[in-house]
Amino acid sequence: MAVTTQARPESRATTTKKWVYLFEEGNKDMRDLLGGKGAGVAEMTLAGLPVPPGFTITTEACNAYYASGKKFPDGMWEQAIEALHHVEEKTGKKLGDPKNPLLVSVRSGAKFSMPGMMDTVLNLGLNPQTLEGLAKLTDDRRFALDAYRRFAQMFGKIVLGIEAEKFEKRLELAKEKAKVKTDPELKPEQLEKLVKEFKDIILKESGKPFPDDPLDQLRASIEAVFSSWNNKRATDYRNFNKIPHDLGTAVNVQTMVFGNMGNDSGTGVAFTRDPNTGAKVLYGDYLPNAQGEDVVAGIRTPQPISSLKKQMPDVYKEFETNAERLEKHYRDVQDLEFTVEKRKLWMLQTRSAKRTAQAAVKIAVDMVAEKLITEDEAVQRVEPTQVDQLLHPRIDPKAKPKVIAKGIDASPGAASGKAVFDADRAEQKAKSGEAVILVRIETNPDDVHGMIAAKGVLTARGGKTSHAAVVARGMGKPCVAGAESLKIDLEKRFFTVDGVKVKEGDLITINGTTGEVILGSVPMIEPAINKDLNQLLTWADARRRLGVWANADYPRDAKVARSYGAEGIGLCRTEHMFMEQERLPIVQKMILAADEKERRKWLAELLPFQRSDFVGILKEMHGLPVIIRLIDPPLHEFLPNYDEQLVKVTTMRLKKAPKKKLEQEEALLKAIEGMREQNPMLGLRGIRLGLLYPEIIEMQVRAIVEAAISLKKKNVDVKPEIMIPLVSHVNELSRTHETVERVVKEVFAQLKMEIPYKFGTMIEIPRAALTAGEIAKVAEFFSFGTNDLTQTTFGFSRDDAEGKFLLKYVEEKILPVNPFESLDTVGVGRLMKIAVEEGRKSRHDMEIGICGEHGGDPASIKFCHTLGLNYVSCSPYRVPVARLAAAQAAMETKERDR
Ligand code: PEP
Ligand code: MG
Repeated sequence: MAVTTQARPESRATTTKKWVYLFEEGNKDMRDLLGGKGAGVAEMTLAGLPVPPGFTITTEACNAYYASGKKFPDGMWEQAIEALHHVEEKTGKKLGDPKNPLLVSVRSGAKFSMPGMMDTVLNLGLNPQTLEGLAKLTDDRRFALDAYRRFAQMFGKIVLGIEAEKFEKRLELAKEKAKVKTDPELKPEQLEKLVKEFKDIILKESGKPFPDDPLDQLRASIEAVFSSWNNKRATDYRNFNKIPHDLGTAVNVQTMVFGNMGNDSGTGVAFTRDPNTGAKVLYGDYLPNAQGEDVVAGIRTPQPISSLKKQMPDVYKEFETNAERLEKHYRDVQDLEFTVEKRKLWMLQTRSAKRTAQAAVKIAVDMVAEKLITEDEAVQRVEPTQVDQLLHPRIDPKAKPKVIAKGIDASPGAASGKAVFDADRAEQKAKSGEAVILVRIETNPDDVHGMIAAKGVLTARGGKTSHAAVVARGMGKPCVAGAESLKIDLEKRFFTVDGVKVKEGDLITINGTTGEVILGSVPMIEPAINKDLNQLLTWADARRRLGVWANADYPRDAKVARSYGAEGIGLCRTEHMFMEQERLPIVQKMILAADEKERRKWLAELLPFQRSDFVGILKEMHGLPVIIRLIDPPLHEFLPNYDEQLVKVTTMRLKKAPKKKLEQEEALLKAIEGMREQNPMLGLRGIRLGLLYPEIIEMQVRAIVEAAISLKKKNVDVKPEIMIPLVSHVNELSRTHETVERVVKEVFAQLKMEIPYKFGTMIEIPRAALTAGEIAKVAEFFSFGTNDLTQTTFGFSRDDAEGKFLLKYVEEKILPVNPFESLDTVGVGRLMKIAVEEGRKSRHDMEIGICGEHGGDPASIKFCHTLGLNYVSCSPYRVPVARLAAAQAAMETKERDR
C-alpha cells in the first residue's frame, strides 16, 4: 500500500514528496533512503518473515528537517500518521487505545551501522490509561508497570535530554530499599512509586509534565532521533570511520513485541555462522523472559542459542529456517535479532555480520563451495588487512591480558618474552634460547642484531614508520612504537609505567596489532597459510595483473617470501649485511681507511662475506629475479654515534687510559666528526657514494657476479638485477654504469662464463622522476623508492616529521593519511605517473616496480595497478596481503571499465 496516495486528495499526493515508507514498501537496495535497519526489516517483510509491522521515515526527511531549521518537512507528519493507521489495522491494536493499546519503538537507523551512537525510545504509547489496558491484557501488572517505568526513563533521557544518572540513582535507591539486586525483582507497588518519581524528575527538570498523549510522545521521539544524528558521539564516530555527515538517519517506528512476558518469551541475537571461526553453525545467545536491552546491559548471562531448542523446539526450528533463508537471500552471513513473545517468533533485524579474519576467509571459501557466491565475490569479500592479521601470531581472544600501556600499533602480531634493554643482551639471551622483547627508547641501525634476535620490539618514541616499525615489519615481527607513558632507564635496565616496574628479565607481551603493552605472557594463536587462505589466494592470483615481489635481505627472508608466493625479490638492501657483528669492524676500518689502497684492502676482506650473502639469496630464489641494490646509507651510519664517542674519549682522557687505545678512539672520533653532515638524508649517500668511492661498489658488483656465476655452474637458474639508489641526474647513472659494466666484464673474463643481468635504478628523487625519459636510456628497469620519494617530494624528513608534527597533521586532517603509510597519489603519485610515461617512451618494455613501504599497502597497490607497474615489492609477510589487494584492484578496474 502506498501511504501517500491512500486517503489523501489527489492534488496533494502528487505535490508532496514521499517521506514515509511502510516496511512492505521498501527493500534491501534502499539503504540510502531507509537506512540499513529500515532496508533490512523491509526486505524481511517482503520475504514473508514475521516482522512486527512498522514504517520508516527517510534519511531525506532527516536532512530536510535540518535544512529547514529543525522543522518536519511538509507532509511528513501526516504521512507518518497514515502509516501508523496502517500499522494499527495490521495489528488490530491502536495507539492510545486503553482497551487494546499499540506500543511502538522509535529507532534510528543510518545507511551505515553506527552501533550505540544514536538514540532509541521503547514502549512508546503508554500513559495512565493504556497502562491499565496493558496490565489487563497481559494479566501482568508488574510487567506493564515495568514497561511504563522504562519508557519514562528513556523518554526523559533521550527526548528531554535529562541526565541519565538522575533516573538511575532513583532506580538504585528503589532496589536498595526493596533489598533486591535486579530490576525484575521490584514489586508492582515499588514500580508504581518509581514511575511517579520519574515523572516528578521530568516535571522538575524540563518544566513540563510527562506527555500523556501518545501522538505528542511520537512527535517528540521522532525529533529526538533526528537530533541524535548530530550528537557528539555520532559525529565523532563518523569522523573516525570516515562516514559522511550529510547522509542523515532514518527513523523506524515499529510495533513493540515483548520478550519479557514470562518463560515462554525471550530475546536473542544469533549469527548464521560462527563469526569467530566461520564454522557453519547457528551461533548466538538467548535470554528467556527478557528484553533486548537486558542482553546489552549484561545484567543476566545469556544462554547459548541451543537452549531455545530445548525450551521451545518449534520456535527454534522456525528461527533456524528463517536464518537459513536470510543467509541464502543475502548471500552472506547474517547477524539476526529476534524476540519470542508467548511462543510467537518475531524477527527484528538482519544485517551482514562482522567477523574475524579467520572466519572471513573460511566463510568466503565455503560459500563458493556451497555455490552461494562466485569466486570473484569471494576474492572481493575479504579485506586485505584481515589477511595481514592472519599471518602474525595473535593473542587468543579468550585471554584476559593486563594492559599496562598503549603505544602505536607499528607492526602487527603479538609476542611474549623477557624484557631486555639493549641489542647485545637481546642477542645473548636469544642465543641461549630465551624469548626476549627488545625495549628501547627508540632504535637505530646499531640495534638491528638485537631486533633480529628478539621476538618483538617496544619503543617509547617513534611512529609507524620509525626505524623500529619499518625494520620490525620487514622482519614480520610485532612492534609497539611510541609508548610514551613508559619511563625507560636504559642504564639501570628497567621501565616504569603507572606505578608498575618492569625489570630486565620480567615477562611482558606486546600486541603490535593494537599497540598494547601487557604484563606477563598470554596464550597465543600461531599463524599459517591454511587451506582456505591458500584457496582464496589462488583465486586472487588468477585475477591479478600486478606481480608481487618481496623485499628481503637474507636467504631466510627470501625463503619466507617464496613460501608466501613472492615472484621475485624487488629489493635486497646490501648494507644490512654490513651491519652484522663480525662484519661491522671491517666495514668501520674500510670507512676510516687513510687512502684508497687501504680501503681496497678492507673491501677485499668484505668480498667473501658479500659473495656468500648473494649466493644464499640467489639460490633461494632460483628461477626468479633478484634485485640487489648497491650501498645506500651515509657511511657514518656504520660508525658509533658522535656524542657517545665524544663522551668515551673524554672519559678515557680523564681516566688517563693507555695511550695507544686513546689514540685509536681519538682517531675514530675525528673520522666521525669529519663525516658528520647537517642533513645526512640529503648528503653523501646512495649513488653519490659509489661515484666518490667507486671501489665500494666495485666490490659489491664483483660479489654479485661471482656469486651468480658460481651458482650457474651448478645449474641454478639465476636472474640478478643490479640497482642503483638515489639517482637524480642521468650523468650520475651513466658514470656508475661504466664502473658496473667494467667490473662485470672483468669477472666474466676471469671466470670464463657470462650470465644475463639487468642494470637499473631506483626512482626516489623528484628530479629522477621528472627526467625519467633520459634516465631510461641508461637504466633497464625502474623501482620506485617511495619512502625517499615521499620525503623528498614533501620536503619532510620522515623521522623528524613523524616524531613531531605528522601525526597531528593527520589528526587535524591537514593531510588525509600519513603519506609514508599510504601513497600520496596526488603529489608523489603524479611524479610516478610522469616517470612511468617518460620511462616507457624511451624503453617501451621497461620493467617498473615499487619497493618502498607502500608496496604492501592495499590502497597504494591499487594505485600502482592503475599506473601500469609490473609488480609491487613488500616485506615477505605482506606478500599474501598484496596478492589479494592486487586482485581486488584488477577486478575493480575491470568493473569500472565495464
Ligand atoms: C625507498 O626509499 O623507498 C626505499 C625502498 O629505500 P630505503 O627505504 O632503503 O631508503
Ligand atoms: Mg630509499
